Amino acid sequence: MKKKELEKFKEILLDKKEKILGNAIQTLEGDMALDVADLPDEMDLASSEYLQSFQFRLRGRERTFLSKIDEALKKIEAGEFGICENCGEEISPKRLEARPETTMCIKCKEEQEQEEKQFSE
Ligand SMILES: [Zn+2]
Repeated sequence: MKKKELEKFKEILLDKKEKILGNAIQTLEGDMALDVADLPDEMDLASSEYLQSFQFRLRGRERTFLSKIDEALKKIEAGEFGICENCGEEISPKRLEARPETTMCIKCKEEQEQEEKQFSE
């Protein structure tokens, strides 16, 4: 993949990451508003400990999505972006444009989803 294309995907990924974090912070602030009354006065809500646990308090889906984005960004740096983790083939540019955080080509992804369906309701 050309450097220019990689830069484009990097931008898309960073943009997505920012949006998720923005949403997550809003969600957490909603939670905090409920919690504050129960906390002792000396509790520092902006403490670094709170910020550290931030990532863990994200909802499951957001957390999974964020780690996928981080992985994709690492791959861009390592020059491995756009390669299917399952079969080693190149993932189609069209698919990457729609879901740059993807780690699998459409064929492998469909196979995986078929398997997952068998285990979920
Ligand atoms: Zn594949």
